[in-house]
Amino acid sequence: MREVIGQALQADPVDGRAEAFAHLREQPRSISGICPTHPETLRLYRLLAEQLIAAHPGTEYFHLGGDEANTVGQCPRCERTRARGSKAKLVSGFTNKIIRFLAGRGVKPMMWADMLFGHLEDPEAVSRYARDMFADLSRDVIAADWDYWSTGPRTPSADRSPYLGIAGFEHLSRLTDAGFSVVGFPSSSHAFNSERNAIDHILAFRNITAFAKELKRRGCLGMVDTFWPTDALGQAWWHDIRTVSHRRSEETADVFYSQIRPGLEAHWYTIWRSAECAWSRAPRSKADYDRAFARLFLGAPDTSYPDALELASIPIDTPALRRRSRIPQRVKKQRLRKASALMRKAFRSARRGRDTVAYSDLFVRIQYHEMEWKEFHDRLSPIAMPKLSQARLRLLEKLAAERKALEGDFRRIYTKVHKDVHLEEEVRIRFAEERRLQEQLLWAQERGAAKKRGGRS
Ligand SMILES: [Zn+2]
Repeated sequence: MREVIGQALQADPVDGRAEAFAHLREQPRSISGICPTHPETLRLYRLLAEQLIAAHPGTEYFHLGGDEANTVGQCPRCERTRARGSKAKLVSGFTNKIIRFLAGRGVKPMMWADMLFGHLEDPEAVSRYARDMFADLSRDVIAADWDYWSTGPRTPSADRSPYLGIAGFEHLSRLTDAGFSVVGFPSSSHAFNSERNAIDHILAFRNITAFAKELKRRGCLGMVDTFWPTDALGQAWWHDIRTVSHRRSEETADVFYSQIRPGLEAHWYTIWRSAECAWSRAPRSKADYDRAFARLFLGAPDTSYPDALELASIPIDTPALRRRSRIPQRVKKQRLRKASALMRKAFRSARRGRDTVAYSDLFVRIQYHEMEWKEFHDRLSPIAMPKLSQARLRLLEKLAAERKALEGDFRRIYTKVHKDVHLEEEVRIRFAEERRLQEQLLWAQERGAAKKRGGRS
């Protein structure tokens, strides 16, 4: 896959400028859903998409987002439209317009597949909704099927996810059977683990391996790895980035990166596995992969690091799992202590990639001390963690200093990459002013289109 851009159906309030478009919200208090029947919505969407496409010449795919749109169809305007058709018709009707627009602009549209299944709605409504969606949605859109829990076609629903009460890869088979082109999205970090700041490389490894195999078997388009590293990622988007992004893009990059980097470093093992599974005809067995990763990534003579990851990978306690196989607290602590000892061994023997080992160890220790990531992050500057020994505090201080140094590199790269896209504009223009500008652009665009139409007739 050459390049994917987009994801714009949900207007995230990265810097509060979404206030300028509050009148387009489906629900006055919810910023994550835009009204599909408001006439300005499609105009705004087209404008944003045009800007993104223009900023990424040669782009082949455009991800239009559209996931978790749980508020859709709730505003009075949509209620009226819904009464004449159905919620699925509302969603598919709007999405089809976007699909047609994007296809006409020479990019291949892609959308998150959960909205074909109604996401979190009650099962009875979902089956009716899904039937209508499957009947009406254009096959010109590529379905982006995210599944971070399945480890095989027979994964029981209880092991999978509190979100999707279905068996492994069921969405995938329904999508391909219905004639959609599919790209699969496994996860190199477990979304629910990230909420409790734990790593579960075993689940991710199995999810990636099985998903890639299933995608190949069904002749799907490809695979995109996803990464949900820590709760801090969410925190960064919703709080810190919003507060700094009015100032300077460099600062935004700093905050974003300082939050994301620890999680990223701790997940190279599974990110590499995604690459191997996507690009290789015959991915290695786990034992072979562990040896190869230790040798190629760390320059290490043994598998201490993958072994430590395996010990630290403790399944999350879903209600179903709690009844069946909950690991006692004492055993968890034992495993995490052993994992940390192995990490230190790996750190000593690694010839490169030591950041990865250090940050992974950090996660293991945070998990051991049952700390919230935010709590850890807030305490990192004053370094006042009563539960940690002096030696560990010194290591954390070292990590903090090292992180600071690397932030400079990231800042340079990040601002260079995003220079022409939106960050610089985003931080320069306050939202009131932006609203005015956007309106002018909308008018100009419409006048241009009207002229063209006039010229043709
Ligand atoms: Zn509406």
